[in-house]
Amino acid sequence: MSAQIISGRDISAEIRAELTDRVAELEKDGIKPGLATVLVGENPASQMYVGMKNKAAAKVGLHSRQLTLPVETSEEELLGVVAGLNADPEINGILVQLPLPDPIDEGKIIEAIHPSKDVDGLNPVNVGRLATDSGDFLAPCTPAGVIEMLVRSDNDPSGKHVVVVGRSNLVGRPLASLLLRKDRGGNATVTVAHSRTADLTAVTRSAEILVVAMGIPEKITGEMVAPGTIVIDVGTHRVDDPGSEKGYRVCGDVLFDEVKEVAAAISPSPGGVGPMTITMLLSNTVKAAVAAAARASA
Ligand code: NAP
Repeated sequence: MSAQIISGRDISAEIRAELTDRVAELEKDGIKPGLATVLVGENPASQMYVGMKNKAAAKVGLHSRQLTLPVETSEEELLGVVAGLNADPEINGILVQLPLPDPIDEGKIIEAIHPSKDVDGLNPVNVGRLATDSGDFLAPCTPAGVIEMLVRSDNDPSGKHVVVVGRSNLVGRPLASLLLRKDRGGNATVTVAHSRTADLTAVTRSAEILVVAMGIPEKITGEMVAPGTIVIDVGTHRVDDPGSEKGYRVCGDVLFDEVKEVAAAISPSPGGVGPMTITMLLSNTVKAAVAAAARASA
């Protein structure tokens, strides 16, 4: 029997509708959450992502500001821009689109964003609070989106054995931390696999929930998944497809047509984790605005 489809598009639309209502409510209290995106250079993929983020922000009613800086912007100049946004009361969330052109040190820029405005959740203060499950923090958008997909599709990870394939700082590691939290979407038993994992198939087959973020197109095949597993595919790739009109197709890290025949539920790619990432950015911006208002009135 074919698996239930966990649609990131549908869950995303549901959350964005909730956010639209929340933003309208906040406006009555004089709170207008503001997101600033910073794009350095003219990388076409980055231009597209930033455009999508601003459009999505405006659609749920956020104040959104796009700063586009020339490719020759120096690290010092960019740090100055970030400092200005840190001090700007109209801005609650700062997103510096990665990758940054050479020789700008991305780590330095991420560290310069004030943790309370770090809506990408990559500043070491937020990373540390998430890892230690302590204090307020903003979680990285892609792993936070995976958690929402699981919870909202009635596949709560609590008490389940979750296998995460991938240990990147962007996806695998923070996802493992979120899954371990003693909170909504957490309380899972977590195994993290990576390129040195000895018998990947044995590990993936032991999962009740399998989240794949390995960056290799269609690597997880049907025989690597035990019947009844819940599968979330974080991967997204453009692969050549001479037979198609565009000459390419988009796929994930999971061989969808095979795995959907053994899994109980599966997220597609495209249409899975991708739309959730932007939605969680909007959600983080609203969360940051509410926290800023609470601090101001304390
Ligand atoms: P990454 O930084 O390249 O990390 C890949 C991880 O997979 C690494 O930890 C690597 O292990 C592990 N890995 C590689 N080959 C493996 C193998 N043969 N067996 C087991 N593990 C293996 O990638 P990422 O940034 O986490 O992204 C992963 C995927 O998600 C990519 O396809 C990316 O495009 C996609 N993504 C999508 C979104 C979205 O919004 N939809 C957002 C972010 C990323 P080592 O650590 O040992 O090298």
